[in-house]
Amino acid sequence: MTSVPNPVDPIFTWRKESDGVVVITIDDPTQDVNTVHSRFVAELSAIVERLQTERDDIAGVVLTSGKSTFVAGGDLHEIVALGPEDAARFTRHLDHLKAQLRALETLGRPVVAAINGSALGGGLELALAAHHRVAVDSPRVQIGLPEVGLGLLPAGGGIVRTVRLLGAKRALDEVLLTGKRFRPAQARALGLVDELVATSDDLLPYAKQWIVGHPDAVQPWDTRGFTLPGGTQTHGALAAELPFLSSTLRARTGGAPAPAERAILAAAVEGAQVDIDAASRIESRYFVEIATAPIAKNRINLTFFDLQQIKGGASRPSGQPTYRASRVGVVGAGMMGAGIAYAAAKVGIEVVLVDTSLEAAEKGRAYSAKVEGRAVARGQRTQADADALLARIAATADLADLRDVDFVIEAVFENAALKADIFSRVEAVVRPDAVLGSNTSTLPITSLAASVGRPEDFVGVHFFSPVDKMALVEIIRGEATSDATLAKAFDLVVQLGKTPIVVNDSRGFFTSRVIIARLNEAVAMVGEGIAPASIEQASLQAGYPAGALQLLDELTLTLPRAVREEARAAAAASGQAWVTHPSHDVFDRLIDDWGRVGRAGGGGFYDYDEQGRRSGFWPGLADAFPRAATTPTLRDLSERLLFAEVLEAWAAHAEGVIEAPADANVGSLLGIGFPAWTGGVLRFLDQYEGGREGFVARAEELAEQYGDRFRPPASLVDSAQPAGLSA
Ligand code: NAD
Repeated sequence: MTSVPNPVDPIFTWRKESDGVVVITIDDPTQDVNTVHSRFVAELSAIVERLQTERDDIAGVVLTSGKSTFVAGGDLHEIVALGPEDAARFTRHLDHLKAQLRALETLGRPVVAAINGSALGGGLELALAAHHRVAVDSPRVQIGLPEVGLGLLPAGGGIVRTVRLLGAKRALDEVLLTGKRFRPAQARALGLVDELVATSDDLLPYAKQWIVGHPDAVQPWDTRGFTLPGGTQTHGALAAELPFLSSTLRARTGGAPAPAERAILAAAVEGAQVDIDAASRIESRYFVEIATAPIAKNRINLTFFDLQQIKGGASRPSGQPTYRASRVGVVGAGMMGAGIAYAAAKVGIEVVLVDTSLEAAEKGRAYSAKVEGRAVARGQRTQADADALLARIAATADLADLRDVDFVIEAVFENAALKADIFSRVEAVVRPDAVLGSNTSTLPITSLAASVGRPEDFVGVHFFSPVDKMALVEIIRGEATSDATLAKAFDLVVQLGKTPIVVNDSRGFFTSRVIIARLNEAVAMVGEGIAPASIEQASLQAGYPAGALQLLDELTLTLPRAVREEARAAAAASGQAWVTHPSHDVFDRLIDDWGRVGRAGGGGFYDYDEQGRRSGFWPGLADAFPRAATTPTLRDLSERLLFAEVLEAWAAHAEGVIEAPADANVGSLLGIGFPAWTGGVLRFLDQYEGGREGFVARAEELAEQYGDRFRPPASLVDSAQPAGLSA
């Protein structure tokens, strides 16, 4: 019988066995996972003190967890609340934690970490202070130091000990700067853990056996004559690798603000030259500097709290029953349809995949066979599992085979008449309550819904390409879409393991509308005669994953123009004024005068070689748009790209297209590569220097210099009061 946790129960329990081994079990009664917070540190310190007092009667120590995970990282609520005024107090807290870990590894008795579940961040740091680490070889166990992904650095000795264990270069390249979560076998190959056992039950016997064999265990760094693997900065291989390391950092960050990455590099290299206690202090100081500044908070709020809010269903209509799809129909087995079918089959859903011919449908199904084949070859999947997945996808040319599905996702060509025709035929064969979803990227959902008799069951489910890699799905609510349908779409996306954001119907929905604002701005720069290399550099320096012109070439220049022309026609039809953008003329000239339509058409802003690789900027660009006499600063160029997107996102928010700021922030990160350091496209407003007022002032400045499109709207100016939009 399991006992109900009582919040006053201790986090650490002490059990001394007859062989003198003390088993310390970590089981925080106040949380589902163990995290390292103030009470944790206080209790750890009492445990360490007791170990020291009773040392003579102790044969060794085993650290393990009473939860299904070992220990997760630090308490993010605590970290996100830190301000500069907390610097001294938090430094003391860290130093105190590290003193306990140091006392543990210098206890004079063997200490084994028995890793029964994921050991990430603070959990791995605790384990690194043990003399030996044994982990259960289970796919649910992840081991690593993922802090960099939150804009933080490991500060419980993670940098100090991985550098001493693996050498600075390997620690940085493989663990600290990647933030990778390793499977047990990978962690063992790397040297983060020493041994693997098959089940949790094997941990304690193994640990005890190790203790018996190593009564005098000490850390390698506490042995006489210890030298760092790879040498120190002034001595050995690291000295030669330093320039390489800083260029790796540049390659990894593209010159974007990356204070955590820089601090990790500095703490590792500086710490490699001094003793472990001094290295620990260096690590703490860098951590406190980073954790009390805005970028880490932006990233934690975005990648943790906003995501938690979304997954918690904040944008899902309340009161609707939970839905689980069992059989999904996908119409159109092209690039998107094949990807969607695979995503569904992968989570156990039966899929009916339809195209115009059996051959085309089979081709879509073959995509799953290809991806699974690779997974089998890499040892990530058994052949039997891959076969079972494929057996869940039925390829067909007959829409009538959709009769038993409970959710349809249409992914045929982007053509309104074709889609309308498909839906009227689909509606005739599916169950009367089947959801009718479209993966359209540009067509208004409300008008597509007019082609069916039950528009309340119609919804947009906008996947991103490649479906397999992209975590976001934009759910579009048409005018008639019911709460029940929206909730089902939301639940399906979660069932697929993806992240849903909810958007009201509008031209370009949310993500396309925002990204096009950036791409248009980049194209306007081309028209001003700004060197394309500067535009690409400004993109990377802002923190985007790729240059805007490169992205446009991939997308094709004709697509944004077609979207623009549709918007122009819609504006004309509804009597609305049409505002031209300086990019329009540039697009038209590139496409109409020079036939530069992008990579698929043989070339766009770039030229391509026979293998389709970029071979340099198209030299004709400089003739078509003569170089400007002066070039704006890179800061101006980067901010024009960022501000164009932020202002568009604000407009969409103010118009009610996207209601939850968390949806906008996460959508911008996962869907269109908005830089994570900013905290997302709407948080950008408040984290800008001077807060929202600072943003408004800078937007006015950009408007004066580059055009009225940067003029902040009244709704934004009015909102620039002390209390901001998002935390
Ligand atoms: P695609 O050209 O690769 O595939 C379309 C498929 O639909 C083809 O296999 C075609 O044979 C099939 N098809 C056409 N008419 C059909 C019919 N009457 N019955 C059954 N099948 C039919 O296109 P795609 O890139 O997969 O895009 C599909 C949809 O997804 C479009 O609406 C597109 O706007 C949208 N979308 C595309 C992307 C992207 O990046 N490609 C991203 C998001 C959304």
